[in-house]
Amino acid sequence: MAKLSVQLVPCLKDNYAYLVTDAGQGVYAVVDPSEPEPVIKALGERKLTHILNTHHHFDHTGGNIALKEKYGAVVVGPEKDRERIPGIDVGVSEDAPWMFGKHTAHILEIPAHTKAHIAFYFPEDGVVFTGDTLFAMGCGRLFEGTPQMMWNSLSKLMALPDETRVYCGHEYTFNNGRFALTLEPTNNALLTRMADVEAKRARNEATMPTNMALEKLTNPFLRPNSPDIRRSTGLLEASDVDVFAEMRRRKDMF
Ligand SMILES: [Zn+2]
Repeated sequence: MAKLSVQLVPCLKDNYAYLVTDAGQGVYAVVDPSEPEPVIKALGERKLTHILNTHHHFDHTGGNIALKEKYGAVVVGPEKDRERIPGIDVGVSEDAPWMFGKHTAHILEIPAHTKAHIAFYFPEDGVVFTGDTLFAMGCGRLFEGTPQMMWNSLSKLMALPDETRVYCGHEYTFNNGRFALTLEPTNNALLTRMADVEAKRARNEATMPTNMALEKLTNPFLRPNSPDIRRSTGLLEASDVDVFAEMRRRKDMF
């Protein structure tokens, strides 16, 4: 079986939708279509079979109805948020994997940005779509959850294999890295990565995908036990979740 191919589709100002395909099996999905037009353009002659949503926000579902009408694609989203996912056909949860052709997607329930946010994790393909929960060097805002919920959600993602390629919902990487440097100004992996990100953005290139190994080295929200972060926040003896909460609070004002 061929591995899934993933194509970035920039949408709106800084959103990414992703075309996920296995032509051999005739399956063509889009993850989190903010709007229909860029997706239709990226598809060309190919016919969309599935629409996958990580959460209900309009900049992740805004293309659902138009794409469903045009292609008859099946809309797949979090079962626990059925009423807020436009055009949903199939509700998924951690209870059972979802099959994309012969590719298995494990559904990870990772609430806090929204109460029913999910990730689609394809273990055989080594790919995860994390929506607005895990960003490159960042994490989503806590609109519908607590720091403890988000820390649990991020911990679930941290358990994935290091080489897992991570596709996030937004191009926030440069700004996230600037914030990360306020907490760990001498983290060498972070400094090296920021030089790379800066060069990429100067060429208007995307910084996706990232991978779990790199995130664990450079994403402050996955590193609340870093001695430098503890010194920067003044929380030397606090729990990981309290350090996480303080970082999230600072990032909201950054
Ligand atoms: Zn969102």
